[in-house]
Amino acid sequence: MPSKKSSRKPAPWQEYAVTIRRLAEGERGVDASDPESLGLRTKFGGTPDWEQEDEHPTCKACQTAMNFVGQIDSFEHQSKRNPNSRSAMGVQDFMFGDVGMIYVFYCIPCAKAKAIVQYG
Ligand SMILES: [Zn+2]
Repeated sequence: MPSKKSSRKPAPWQEYAVTIRRLAEGERGVDASDPESLGLRTKFGGTPDWEQEDEHPTCKACQTAMNFVGQIDSFEHQSKRNPNSRSAMGVQDFMFGDVGMIYVFYCIPCAKAKAIVQYG
């Protein structure tokens, strides 16, 4: 751990564009239980595809369960099916732990957000 905090921002990571497509009722974007889907599980809405146990948060302000906004997968995961694959031997910025996921939650009445990371 650094002994002195710095307000200097790190260099920005490679920028990616995101395409958002509304799914039909009952349609799934990706089968998160399929090992071939690693790195491809980023989504908005629905329910979280937890890597570990369910950690659905409660809003600290109003004590109600927060809305699930989405999840950001380790989308540079090296695999043949992943169009954003980067070598595991090189630099992978969007790698959260061992192919982990960042989950984002929001409380509408309180306008509060929370992010949770789980490792793969
Ligand atoms: Zn709240």
